[in-house]
Amino acid sequence: MTTTWQPDSWKTREARHLPRYEDPAELAEAEATLASYPPLVFAGEARALKQELAEVANGHAFLLQGGDCAESFAEFHPDNIRDTFRVLLQMAVVMTFASKRPVVKVGRMAGQFAKPRSSDTETQGEVTLPSYFGDNINGIDFDPAQRRNDPGRMVRAYSQAAATLNLLRAFAGGGYANLRQVHQWTLDFMGRTPWAEKFSETADRIGEALDFMEACGIDPATVPQLQGTSFYTSHEGLLLPYEQALTRRDSLTGDWYATSAHMLWIGDRTRFDGSAHVEFARGIGNPLGLKCGPSLDPDTLLGLLDQLNPDREPGRITLISRFGHDKVEDGLPPLVRAVTREGHKVVWSCDPMHGNVIKSDSGFKTRPFDRILSEVKGFFAVHRAEGTHPGGIHIEMTGQDVTECVGGAVAITDEALGDRYHTHCDPRLNAAQSLELAFLLAEMLNT
Ligand code: PEP
Ligand code: MN
Repeated sequence: MTTTWQPDSWKTREARHLPRYEDPAELAEAEATLASYPPLVFAGEARALKQELAEVANGHAFLLQGGDCAESFAEFHPDNIRDTFRVLLQMAVVMTFASKRPVVKVGRMAGQFAKPRSSDTETQGEVTLPSYFGDNINGIDFDPAQRRNDPGRMVRAYSQAAATLNLLRAFAGGGYANLRQVHQWTLDFMGRTPWAEKFSETADRIGEALDFMEACGIDPATVPQLQGTSFYTSHEGLLLPYEQALTRRDSLTGDWYATSAHMLWIGDRTRFDGSAHVEFARGIGNPLGLKCGPSLDPDTLLGLLDQLNPDREPGRITLISRFGHDKVEDGLPPLVRAVTREGHKVVWSCDPMHGNVIKSDSGFKTRPFDRILSEVKGFFAVHRAEGTHPGGIHIEMTGQDVTECVGGAVAITDEALGDRYHTHCDPRLNAAQSLELAFLLAEMLNT
Protein backbone atom coordinates (compact mmCIF):
# COMPACT_ATOMS: atom_id res chain seq x y z
CA MET A 1 0.00 0.00 0.00
CA THR A 2 1.25 3.43 -0.86
CA THR A 3 1.82 5.74 2.07
CA THR A 4 1.33 9.01 0.21
CA TRP A 5 -1.86 10.51 1.41
CA GLN A 6 -3.89 13.33 -0.05
CA PRO A 7 -7.35 14.59 0.97
CA ASP A 8 -8.68 12.84 -2.17
CA SER A 9 -6.68 9.60 -2.02
CA TRP A 10 -9.81 7.86 -0.69
CA LYS A 11 -11.07 8.00 -4.28
CA THR A 12 -8.73 5.16 -5.23
CA ARG A 13 -10.36 2.83 -2.67
CA GLU A 14 -13.65 1.01 -2.37
CA ALA A 15 -16.27 3.50 -1.16
CA ARG A 16 -19.49 2.06 0.25
CA HIS A 17 -22.48 4.12 1.33
CA LEU A 18 -21.58 7.19 -0.68
CA PRO A 19 -24.29 8.87 -2.79
CA ARG A 20 -24.05 9.00 -6.56
CA TYR A 21 -24.71 12.48 -7.87
CA GLU A 22 -26.27 12.81 -11.33
CA ASP A 23 -24.51 15.99 -12.32
CA PRO A 24 -20.73 16.20 -11.75
CA ALA A 25 -20.78 19.97 -12.37
CA GLU A 26 -23.34 20.49 -9.63
CA LEU A 27 -21.22 18.41 -7.22
CA ALA A 28 -18.04 20.28 -8.16
CA GLU A 29 -19.77 23.59 -7.51
CA ALA A 30 -20.89 22.56 -4.02
CA GLU A 31 -17.42 21.21 -3.23
CA ALA A 32 -15.78 24.43 -4.42
CA THR A 33 -18.17 26.49 -2.30
CA LEU A 34 -17.37 24.44 0.80
CA ALA A 35 -13.65 24.56 0.09
CA SER A 36 -13.85 28.36 0.02
CA TYR A 37 -15.67 28.56 3.39
CA PRO A 38 -13.97 28.95 6.77
CA PRO A 39 -13.08 25.87 8.81
CA LEU A 40 -15.64 25.06 11.51
CA VAL A 41 -13.02 23.98 14.05
CA PHE A 42 -9.33 24.60 14.45
CA ALA A 43 -6.61 21.98 14.51
CA GLY A 44 -5.51 23.12 17.97
CA GLU A 45 -8.96 22.29 19.33
CA ALA A 46 -8.83 18.82 17.81
CA ARG A 47 -5.45 18.33 19.47
CA ALA A 48 -6.87 19.53 22.81
CA LEU A 49 -9.60 16.90 22.53
CA LYS A 50 -6.97 14.29 21.68
CA GLN A 51 -5.15 15.21 24.88
CA GLU A 52 -8.32 14.91 26.93
CA LEU A 53 -9.01 11.54 25.31
CA ALA A 54 -5.47 10.43 26.16
CA GLU A 55 -6.44 10.98 29.80
CA VAL A 56 -9.43 8.71 29.21
CA ALA A 57 -7.21 6.09 27.55
CA ASN A 58 -4.95 6.22 30.61
CA GLY A 59 -7.91 5.56 32.91
CA HIS A 60 -8.10 9.03 34.46
CA ALA A 61 -11.27 10.37 32.81
CA PHE A 62 -14.50 9.28 31.13
CA LEU A 63 -15.93 10.11 27.69
CA LEU A 64 -19.56 11.11 27.21
CA GLN A 65 -20.53 11.28 23.53
CA GLY A 66 -24.13 11.80 22.50
CA GLY A 67 -26.71 13.46 20.33
CA ASP A 68 -29.09 12.73 17.48
CA CYS A 69 -28.82 9.69 15.25
CA ALA A 70 -29.34 12.16 12.42
CA GLU A 71 -29.59 15.91 12.72
CA SER A 72 -32.18 17.38 10.40
CA PHE A 73 -33.01 20.65 8.72
CA ALA A 74 -36.56 20.42 10.12
CA GLU A 75 -35.49 20.12 13.76
CA PHE A 76 -32.95 22.94 13.52
CA HIS A 77 -33.98 25.22 16.38
CA PRO A 78 -32.05 26.92 19.19
CA ASP A 79 -34.23 25.24 21.82
CA ASN A 80 -33.36 21.79 20.49
CA ILE A 81 -29.65 22.58 20.55
CA ARG A 82 -29.91 24.04 24.05
CA ASP A 83 -31.91 21.09 25.39
CA THR A 84 -29.52 18.45 24.05
CA PHE A 85 -26.55 20.42 25.35
CA ARG A 86 -28.25 20.81 28.72
CA VAL A 87 -28.95 17.10 29.13
CA LEU A 88 -25.36 16.29 28.21
CA LEU A 89 -24.20 18.79 30.86
CA GLN A 90 -26.49 17.25 33.45
CA MET A 91 -25.27 13.77 32.62
CA ALA A 92 -21.66 14.94 32.83
CA VAL A 93 -22.21 16.58 36.22
CA VAL A 94 -23.83 13.47 37.64
CA MET A 95 -21.02 11.27 36.35
CA THR A 96 -18.24 13.64 37.44
CA PHE A 97 -19.73 13.98 40.89
CA ALA A 98 -19.96 10.22 41.35
CA SER A 99 -16.63 9.24 39.84
CA LYS A 100 -14.61 12.28 40.95
CA ARG A 101 -13.02 12.20 37.53
CA PRO A 102 -13.30 14.57 34.57
CA VAL A 103 -15.90 13.78 31.93
CA VAL A 104 -14.97 14.69 28.36
CA LYS A 105 -18.09 15.96 26.57
CA VAL A 106 -18.50 15.38 22.84
CA GLY A 107 -21.76 16.04 20.97
CA ARG A 108 -23.04 14.07 18.01
CA MET A 109 -23.93 17.57 16.87
CA ALA A 110 -23.13 20.27 14.32
CA GLY A 111 -22.56 17.89 11.40
CA GLN A 112 -24.20 14.51 12.12
CA PHE A 113 -26.33 14.34 8.98
CA ALA A 114 -25.30 11.52 6.61
CA LYS A 115 -26.55 7.99 7.26
CA PRO A 116 -25.52 4.59 5.95
CA ARG A 117 -28.67 2.59 5.19
CA SER A 118 -29.20 -1.15 5.01
CA SER A 119 -31.06 -0.82 1.71
CA ASP A 120 -30.47 1.59 -1.19
CA THR A 121 -34.19 1.76 -1.90
CA GLU A 122 -37.48 2.00 -0.03
CA THR A 123 -40.78 0.64 -1.30
CA GLN A 124 -44.20 1.91 -0.25
CA GLY A 125 -47.09 0.12 -1.96
CA GLU A 126 -46.25 0.02 -5.67
CA VAL A 127 -43.64 2.76 -5.52
CA THR A 128 -39.91 2.26 -5.03
CA LEU A 129 -37.66 5.25 -4.43
CA PRO A 130 -34.07 5.74 -3.23
CA SER A 131 -33.79 5.48 0.55
CA TYR A 132 -33.36 8.54 2.71
CA PHE A 133 -29.62 9.04 3.36
CA GLY A 134 -29.67 12.08 5.66
CA ASP A 135 -30.54 15.72 5.13
CA ASN A 136 -27.14 16.62 3.68
CA ILE A 137 -27.83 14.14 0.82
CA ASN A 138 -31.58 13.93 0.14
CA GLY A 139 -34.96 14.59 1.77
CA ILE A 140 -36.96 12.34 4.10
CA ASP A 141 -40.35 12.76 2.40
CA PHE A 142 -41.34 9.83 0.22
CA ASP A 143 -41.34 11.84 -2.96
CA PRO A 144 -39.11 11.45 -6.06
CA ALA A 145 -37.92 15.08 -6.06
CA GLN A 146 -37.06 14.94 -2.36
CA ARG A 147 -35.21 11.67 -2.67
CA ARG A 148 -32.89 12.97 -5.38
CA ASN A 149 -29.29 13.35 -4.21
CA ASP A 150 -28.68 17.08 -4.14
CA PRO A 151 -25.09 18.35 -3.62
CA GLY A 152 -26.45 21.77 -2.61
CA ARG A 153 -27.66 20.14 0.62
CA MET A 154 -24.03 19.88 1.76
CA VAL A 155 -23.76 23.67 1.73
CA ARG A 156 -26.97 24.03 3.74
CA ALA A 157 -25.69 21.40 6.21
CA TYR A 158 -22.47 23.38 6.59
CA SER A 159 -24.43 26.53 7.44
CA GLN A 160 -26.54 24.68 9.98
CA ALA A 161 -23.43 23.12 11.51
CA ALA A 162 -21.76 26.54 11.72
CA ALA A 163 -24.75 28.10 13.50
CA THR A 164 -25.11 25.09 15.81
CA LEU A 165 -21.45 25.17 16.72
CA ASN A 166 -21.62 28.89 17.34
CA LEU A 167 -24.45 28.42 19.83
CA LEU A 168 -22.70 25.48 21.51
CA ARG A 169 -19.55 27.57 21.94
CA ALA A 170 -21.64 30.39 23.42
CA PHE A 171 -23.38 28.02 25.85
CA ALA A 172 -20.11 26.35 26.87
CA GLY A 173 -18.15 29.55 27.42
CA GLY A 174 -20.70 32.32 27.87
CA GLY A 175 -22.07 31.59 31.33
CA TYR A 176 -24.79 28.99 30.70
CA ALA A 177 -22.49 26.14 31.76
CA ASN A 178 -21.35 27.94 34.92
CA LEU A 179 -21.61 25.43 37.77
CA ARG A 180 -23.53 28.03 39.81
CA GLN A 181 -26.31 27.52 37.23
CA VAL A 182 -26.56 23.81 37.83
CA HIS A 183 -30.06 24.12 39.35
CA GLN A 184 -31.27 26.14 36.38
CA TRP A 185 -30.51 23.29 33.99
CA THR A 186 -33.45 21.29 35.40
CA LEU A 187 -36.14 23.93 35.65
CA ASP A 188 -38.50 23.58 32.76
CA PHE A 189 -38.59 19.93 31.90
CA MET A 190 -38.38 16.45 33.32
CA GLY A 191 -40.84 17.10 36.11
CA ARG A 192 -42.20 13.58 35.88
CA THR A 193 -39.03 11.58 36.33
CA PRO A 194 -37.91 10.45 39.80
CA TRP A 195 -34.36 11.20 38.65
CA ALA A 196 -35.11 14.93 38.48
CA GLU A 197 -35.29 14.99 42.27
CA LYS A 198 -32.07 13.08 42.54
CA PHE A 199 -30.46 15.59 40.19
CA SER A 200 -31.69 18.40 42.39
CA GLU A 201 -29.97 16.75 45.39
CA THR A 202 -26.70 16.52 43.43
CA ALA A 203 -27.09 20.17 42.44
CA ASP A 204 -27.58 21.11 46.13
CA ARG A 205 -24.40 19.34 47.07
CA ILE A 206 -22.46 21.05 44.28
CA GLY A 207 -23.82 24.39 45.49
CA GLU A 208 -22.66 23.58 49.03
CA ALA A 209 -19.19 22.65 47.77
CA LEU A 210 -18.99 26.01 45.94
CA ASP A 211 -20.20 27.88 49.06
CA PHE A 212 -17.56 26.07 51.10
CA MET A 213 -14.84 27.03 48.62
CA GLU A 214 -15.99 30.61 48.76
CA ALA A 215 -15.95 30.62 52.57
CA CYS A 216 -12.36 29.39 52.37
CA GLY A 217 -11.45 32.39 50.24
CA ILE A 218 -11.55 30.83 46.77
CA ASP A 219 -14.01 32.78 44.69
CA PRO A 220 -15.57 30.35 42.15
CA ALA A 221 -16.18 33.34 39.88
CA THR A 222 -12.42 33.59 39.39
CA VAL A 223 -11.94 29.90 38.50
CA PRO A 224 -12.32 29.46 34.74
CA GLN A 225 -13.01 25.71 35.03
CA LEU A 226 -16.14 26.49 37.10
CA GLN A 227 -17.31 29.30 34.84
CA GLY A 228 -17.63 27.29 31.68
CA THR A 229 -16.83 23.95 30.17
CA SER A 230 -15.14 22.44 27.16
CA PHE A 231 -17.50 20.88 24.67
CA TYR A 232 -16.49 19.20 21.41
CA THR A 233 -18.34 18.11 18.28
CA SER A 234 -18.26 14.89 16.30
CA HIS A 235 -20.04 13.01 13.55
CA GLU A 236 -19.61 9.96 11.36
CA GLY A 237 -17.10 10.88 8.65
CA LEU A 238 -19.30 9.29 6.03
CA LEU A 239 -19.91 11.86 3.31
CA LEU A 240 -16.39 12.08 1.96
CA PRO A 241 -16.93 14.87 -0.61
CA TYR A 242 -18.05 17.09 2.30
CA GLU A 243 -15.19 15.99 4.54
CA GLN A 244 -12.60 16.42 1.81
CA ALA A 245 -13.77 19.96 1.04
CA LEU A 246 -13.35 20.88 4.70
CA THR A 247 -9.94 19.22 5.14
CA ARG A 248 -7.26 21.84 5.63
CA ARG A 249 -3.57 22.02 6.37
CA ASP A 250 -2.87 23.30 9.88
CA SER A 251 -0.67 26.38 9.61
CA LEU A 252 1.14 25.56 12.87
CA THR A 253 2.15 21.96 12.21
CA GLY A 254 1.61 21.56 8.49
CA ASP A 255 -0.55 18.50 9.17
CA TRP A 256 -3.95 17.85 7.59
CA TYR A 257 -7.07 18.13 9.73
CA ALA A 258 -10.75 17.61 9.08
CA THR A 259 -12.25 20.93 10.13
CA SER A 260 -15.90 19.82 9.97
CA ALA A 261 -15.74 18.60 13.61
CA HIS A 262 -13.23 17.93 16.35
CA MET A 263 -13.65 14.18 16.12
CA LEU A 264 -14.84 11.92 13.30
CA TRP A 265 -15.71 8.29 13.55
CA ILE A 266 -15.81 5.47 11.01
CA GLY A 267 -19.07 3.52 10.99
CA ASP A 268 -19.46 -0.21 11.39
CA ARG A 269 -20.36 -0.60 7.69
CA THR A 270 -17.37 1.34 6.35
CA ARG A 271 -14.52 0.18 8.56
CA PHE A 272 -13.56 -2.80 6.40
CA ASP A 273 -9.95 -3.27 5.35
CA GLY A 274 -9.21 -1.27 2.19
CA SER A 275 -12.16 1.08 2.59
CA ALA A 276 -12.18 4.63 1.27
CA HIS A 277 -13.33 5.85 4.69
CA VAL A 278 -10.35 4.29 6.46
CA GLU A 279 -8.03 5.76 3.82
CA PHE A 280 -9.47 9.24 4.37
CA ALA A 281 -9.35 9.00 8.16
CA ARG A 282 -5.75 7.83 8.36
CA GLY A 283 -4.44 11.10 6.91
CA ILE A 284 -6.19 13.57 9.21
CA GLY A 285 -4.81 14.54 12.61
CA ASN A 286 -8.14 14.55 14.46
CA PRO A 287 -9.06 12.04 17.13
CA LEU A 288 -10.89 9.16 15.45
CA GLY A 289 -13.64 6.80 16.52
CA LEU A 290 -14.03 3.32 15.09
CA LYS A 291 -17.26 1.41 15.53
CA CYS A 292 -16.67 -2.22 16.50
CA GLY A 293 -19.55 -4.62 15.90
CA PRO A 294 -19.90 -8.40 15.99
CA SER A 295 -18.43 -8.86 12.48
CA LEU A 296 -15.05 -7.33 13.40
CA ASP A 297 -12.35 -9.90 14.08
CA PRO A 298 -9.31 -9.10 16.24
CA ASP A 299 -6.77 -9.33 13.39
CA THR A 300 -8.72 -6.91 11.20
CA LEU A 301 -8.95 -4.54 14.14
CA LEU A 302 -5.20 -4.70 14.75
CA GLY A 303 -4.59 -4.03 11.05
CA LEU A 304 -6.89 -1.00 11.21
CA LEU A 305 -5.12 0.31 14.31
CA ASP A 306 -1.76 0.03 12.53
CA GLN A 307 -3.10 2.06 9.61
CA LEU A 308 -4.97 4.65 11.63
CA ASN A 309 -2.50 5.08 14.45
CA PRO A 310 0.95 3.93 13.34
CA ASP A 311 2.60 6.19 15.93
CA ARG A 312 0.40 4.74 18.69
CA GLU A 313 -0.60 8.13 19.96
CA PRO A 314 -2.87 7.81 23.03
CA GLY A 315 -6.15 9.67 22.51
CA ARG A 316 -6.03 9.21 18.73
CA ILE A 317 -8.34 6.18 18.70
CA THR A 318 -11.64 5.57 20.45
CA LEU A 319 -13.00 2.07 19.90
CA ILE A 320 -16.77 2.24 20.13
CA SER A 321 -18.16 -1.23 20.69
CA ARG A 322 -21.76 -1.88 19.66
CA PHE A 323 -22.42 -5.59 20.00
CA GLY A 324 -25.93 -5.85 21.40
CA HIS A 325 -26.95 -6.73 24.95
CA ASP A 326 -26.68 -10.48 24.36
CA LYS A 327 -23.39 -10.44 22.43
CA VAL A 328 -21.14 -7.98 24.27
CA GLU A 329 -19.87 -10.38 26.93
CA ASP A 330 -18.70 -12.94 24.35
CA GLY A 331 -17.76 -10.58 21.52
CA LEU A 332 -15.82 -7.83 23.27
CA PRO A 333 -13.14 -9.78 25.24
CA PRO A 334 -11.25 -11.07 22.17
CA LEU A 335 -10.93 -7.50 20.86
CA VAL A 336 -9.86 -6.13 24.25
CA ARG A 337 -7.26 -8.89 24.66
CA ALA A 338 -5.78 -8.38 21.18
CA VAL A 339 -5.54 -4.61 21.58
CA THR A 340 -4.01 -4.91 25.05
CA ARG A 341 -1.57 -7.63 23.94
CA GLU A 342 -0.29 -5.42 21.11
CA GLY A 343 0.15 -2.49 23.49
CA HIS A 344 -2.26 -0.05 21.84
CA LYS A 345 -3.56 2.68 24.17
CA VAL A 346 -7.15 3.32 23.12
CA VAL A 347 -10.30 4.69 24.63
CA TRP A 348 -12.88 1.94 25.01
CA SER A 349 -16.36 3.36 24.65
CA CYS A 350 -19.74 1.61 24.68
CA ASP A 351 -22.45 2.34 22.12
CA PRO A 352 -25.40 0.45 23.65
CA MET A 353 -27.78 1.69 20.95
CA HIS A 354 -26.91 0.15 17.58
CA GLY A 355 -26.91 -3.50 18.58
CA ASN A 356 -30.25 -3.22 20.36
CA VAL A 357 -32.75 -2.13 17.74
CA ILE A 358 -36.00 -4.09 17.55
CA LYS A 359 -39.29 -3.63 15.72
CA SER A 360 -42.06 -3.03 18.24
CA ASP A 361 -45.49 -4.64 17.97
CA SER A 362 -46.83 -1.24 16.97
CA GLY A 363 -44.43 -1.25 13.99
CA PHE A 364 -41.92 1.36 15.20
CA LYS A 365 -38.20 0.79 15.29
CA THR A 366 -37.32 1.01 18.99
CA ARG A 367 -34.69 0.18 21.59
CA PRO A 368 -35.72 -1.20 24.97
CA PHE A 369 -34.12 0.76 27.81
CA ASP A 370 -33.38 -2.43 29.75
CA ARG A 371 -31.36 -3.83 26.83
CA ILE A 372 -29.40 -0.59 26.56
CA LEU A 373 -28.61 -0.79 30.25
CA SER A 374 -27.77 -4.45 30.01
CA GLU A 375 -25.21 -3.80 27.25
CA VAL A 376 -23.60 -1.05 29.35
CA LYS A 377 -23.40 -3.44 32.32
CA GLY A 378 -21.89 -6.15 30.11
CA PHE A 379 -19.33 -3.65 28.80
CA PHE A 380 -18.30 -2.70 32.36
CA ALA A 381 -18.15 -6.37 33.39
CA VAL A 382 -15.83 -7.22 30.47
CA HIS A 383 -13.46 -4.36 31.23
CA ARG A 384 -13.43 -5.12 34.96
CA ALA A 385 -12.57 -8.74 34.16
CA GLU A 386 -9.86 -7.80 31.64
CA GLY A 387 -8.33 -5.10 33.86
CA THR A 388 -8.98 -2.39 31.23
CA HIS A 389 -10.72 0.96 31.64
CA PRO A 390 -14.40 1.18 30.61
CA GLY A 391 -13.72 4.64 29.29
CA GLY A 392 -16.85 6.01 27.72
CA ILE A 393 -20.39 5.90 26.48
CA HIS A 394 -21.74 6.78 23.02
CA ILE A 395 -25.48 7.33 22.87
CA GLU A 396 -28.25 8.57 20.62
CA MET A 397 -30.29 10.98 22.70
CA THR A 398 -32.13 14.26 22.63
CA GLY A 399 -33.14 16.87 25.18
CA GLN A 400 -36.72 16.61 23.96
CA ASP A 401 -39.52 14.60 25.57
CA VAL A 402 -39.78 12.14 22.68
CA THR A 403 -41.24 8.62 22.79
CA GLU A 404 -38.81 6.56 20.72
CA CYS A 405 -37.15 4.06 23.12
CA VAL A 406 -39.43 1.88 25.27
CA GLY A 407 -38.91 1.59 29.04
CA GLY A 408 -37.18 3.72 31.63
CA ALA A 409 -38.45 4.91 35.01
CA VAL A 410 -41.24 6.90 33.36
CA ALA A 411 -41.98 3.87 31.26
CA ILE A 412 -42.57 4.55 27.58
CA THR A 413 -44.87 1.77 26.43
CA ASP A 414 -45.12 0.14 23.05
CA GLU A 415 -48.52 1.83 22.53
CA ALA A 416 -47.09 5.26 23.39
CA LEU A 417 -44.31 5.13 20.78
CA GLY A 418 -46.50 6.92 18.22
CA ASP A 419 -47.12 9.92 20.52
CA ARG A 420 -43.89 11.81 19.88
CA TYR A 421 -41.77 9.68 17.57
CA HIS A 422 -39.78 12.40 15.80
CA THR A 423 -36.42 10.90 14.89
CA HIS A 424 -35.16 11.15 11.32
CA CYS A 425 -33.44 7.80 11.66
CA ASP A 426 -32.83 5.66 14.78
CA PRO A 427 -34.78 5.96 18.07
CA ARG A 428 -33.16 8.19 20.71
CA LEU A 429 -33.24 8.26 24.49
CA ASN A 430 -35.33 11.17 25.68
CA ALA A 431 -34.17 13.67 28.31
CA ALA A 432 -35.49 11.66 31.28
CA GLN A 433 -34.09 8.36 29.99
CA SER A 434 -30.70 9.99 29.36
CA LEU A 435 -30.53 11.36 32.90
CA GLU A 436 -31.60 8.00 34.29
CA LEU A 437 -28.79 6.32 32.34
CA ALA A 438 -26.31 8.86 33.76
CA PHE A 439 -27.30 7.97 37.34
CA LEU A 440 -27.01 4.25 36.61
CA LEU A 441 -23.61 4.87 35.00
CA ALA A 442 -22.58 6.91 38.03
CA GLU A 443 -23.24 3.86 40.21
CA MET A 444 -21.12 1.70 37.91
CA LEU A 445 -18.32 4.26 37.84
CA ASN A 446 -18.33 4.39 41.61
CA THR A 447 -17.79 0.69 42.23
C1 PEP B 1 -24.61 5.52 13.99
O1 PEP B 1 -23.81 5.75 14.91
O2 PEP B 1 -25.59 6.24 13.74
C2 PEP B 1 -24.42 4.29 13.18
C3 PEP B 1 -24.93 4.17 11.97
O3 PEP B 1 -23.75 3.35 13.85
P1 PEP B 1 -23.01 2.02 13.35
O4 PEP B 1 -22.03 2.44 12.32
O5 PEP B 1 -22.35 1.52 14.61
O6 PEP B 1 -24.07 1.08 12.85
MN1 MN C 1 -27.96 5.63 14.52
